[in-house]
Amino acid sequence: MYPNANDTPMSYSNTMLRLKKSSIRVTDIASQYWCEKQMELSSIHGWPFTKAMKAGKEIHAQLQEKAFDHVAAKPLTFADSFYKIALEDILCIKRLNETGMCREFRIYGSINGYKIAGSIDQMELDGGKIRIIEHKTVQKRNSLDEVSTRPHRVQALVYKKLLDDIINREYTFANFSASYGVDRLFMSEEFMKELEKSGGQRKEMTNTYAWKKMFEEAAALKGTSEDITVRYLDKATGEVIENLEVRYSKEETDRYITNAMKYWNGQREAMPVTESENWKCNSCRFFGKECKVWWKDGT
Ligand code: SF4
Repeated sequence: MYPNANDTPMSYSNTMLRLKKSSIRVTDIASQYWCEKQMELSSIHGWPFTKAMKAGKEIHAQLQEKAFDHVAAKPLTFADSFYKIALEDILCIKRLNETGMCREFRIYGSINGYKIAGSIDQMELDGGKIRIIEHKTVQKRNSLDEVSTRPHRVQALVYKKLLDDIINREYTFANFSASYGVDRLFMSEEFMKELEKSGGQRKEMTNTYAWKKMFEEAAALKGTSEDITVRYLDKATGEVIENLEVRYSKEETDRYITNAMKYWNGQREAMPVTESENWKCNSCRFFGKECKVWWKDGT
């Protein structure tokens, strides 16, 4: 079992130190369920930015434009950017309550004392509860079988767990603030002046004020739906190809997380794909170079 979300942060494992990570992204956990070794090598050598990823990013940006409230002020420092995220999350919750839908909700939580961060693509009110919708851009002809969709399923399940932790007050502003040192994040004067121009109040311009408000408003949400959707979009046109409906199961989510955390805790090394899934290696940039697990060249 992994500890509760509000457990005191533990010291970083050798794995975290080796990968120079201070937090784990939800997409890192999801990627472990494609190939953990590939995720580790990408963390060491850098994540690629392929044409397919560029196309996916454009589709995501188009979707975001339709249901996202940008804060126009330009951040100059990390503290500015962090504050901006809090404001945009607050606007996202407002939009969700008023229109029944919002996009790009940046979410933070904790698993095993490690900081976890991610971004929920879409939230919709479904019978008063929040339904999480994750968008994935794919080529129309790609097969959407169990193996290919598993990382997306894991990602969606972890998002629901993190949102539930906030709503159930298992992960609170106090936990978040202790992890990120929110009270020490002072914003630049230039950024605050820009915020003032669009009606911002000086007394509200601290990360503590904004994040406290964000956690209060998120905790006031009515709960999440047990049904989650992974929506596959054509990467060329953005049209919906298929909706994968995922029914939440705590046992299944715990299983995925417990297994993933064994890697982050340093209890085991990164695992390559199994032999039955070694077809994935054909499209892996590390194949035959940094990773020779399934490389058959007689060496
Ligand atoms: S070559 Fe195969 S096993 Fe190795 S990292 Fe890539 S996908 Fe994983």
